[in-house]
Amino acid sequence: MKPALSDPALRRRIEASRPGRRIFLSDFDGTLAPIVPDFLKARSGRGVEAGIAELEKAGWRVVLLTGRGLKDLRSRIRTKGLVCGGNHGWEWTGGMAFAPGQPSAQVKRSVRRSVRNAARLLRAKVGHIPGVQVEEKLYFAAVHYRLMPAFRSAEFERALLSARRDPGLAGLRWRAGKKIWELLSPVRWGKGEAARLLIRRFRPDLVVAAGDDTTDEEMFAAVGKKGVSVRVGRSERTRAGLYVERQTDMVRLMRLMASCGRLRPVRSRTSRPRTTRSGRRPSRGRSSR
Ligand SMILES: [Mg+2]
Repeated sequence: MKPALSDPALRRRIEASRPGRRIFLSDFDGTLAPIVPDFLKARSGRGVEAGIAELEKAGWRVVLLTGRGLKDLRSRIRTKGLVCGGNHGWEWTGGMAFAPGQPSAQVKRSVRRSVRNAARLLRAKVGHIPGVQVEEKLYFAAVHYRLMPAFRSAEFERALLSARRDPGLAGLRWRAGKKIWELLSPVRWGKGEAARLLIRRFRPDLVVAAGDDTTDEEMFAAVGKKGVSVRVGRSERTRAGLYVERQTDMVRLMRLMASCGRLRPVRSRTSRPRTTRSGRRPSRGRSSR
C-alpha cells in the first residue's frame, strides 16, 4: 500500500479525468465520521462538509455509500443534495433510486420481512447483555458490541453462537466488522453491486473509493481499474492500493483531490485542439442525452 496523500499516480489520474466525470465514492462511519463508542452519536468529522463542497466545485460527484439507513445518514451530515446509498446500496437518493439493475420490489419486500424476524430473534438471544445493541435496519440487522464491558465477552460469544445455530436464522449470512456483526439476507446485494450499478449509471472517467471496514472491500473490488481505492488505516489484507493513516486525513485527501481536479487535464503535445467552423473550440465532455 502507498500513502494516498503523496501518491503522484493519484494526482495524474485526477488531472487526466474530466470534470463532471469524477466520482468520490465514500463510506461514512470511520471514513468521513470518526468512530464513536455509541453508533447513535456519530456525526460527520470536522471539515468534511467543506471538503465535499470543494470537491463538488472541482467537478466531482460525491456519493456516500453506507450501512446506515438513508434517513439516519441524512441526520448526521448537513450537506444536501448528495447521491446517497443507504443499507449498503439497497436504497438510494439522487438519480440512483430508479437506476435499472437493482433488486425488484418483490425481493426487497421479502428481505425486509426476513430481517424483521431476524432482528426479533437476535434481540431475544443477545439483547439482554449490557452494552450490546441490536439494530434493525430495513435490509439487514446488526449487533453492535462496542459498549459491552470486556468481562461480558464470554457470555456474548455463547449467546451469539446460540443465535448462529438457531433454525430461525438459517440461510442468513453473518459478517463481522469493527465491533459489529451484521446479519444479511441470502440475496447478494451490497456495496460491491451498488458500486457497479453506480459506475454503469454515471460512466465516470475515474472513481476514488474510500472506506475503512470489511464491507468496503467489496466496493474496492468493484471499482477495480476504473478507479483508485483508499483505505483508512494501513492493512496487509485489503484490495485498496492506497491508504491514509487516520480518519481525519480524509479531509486532507478531499482537499488534495479538489485541488488536482481544478487543474486542466493533461493533453498530448501532438494533439491539436479541434475547432468548429466558427473557429470556437467545441465544449468538453459528451453532449447531454
Ligand atoms: Mg466504515
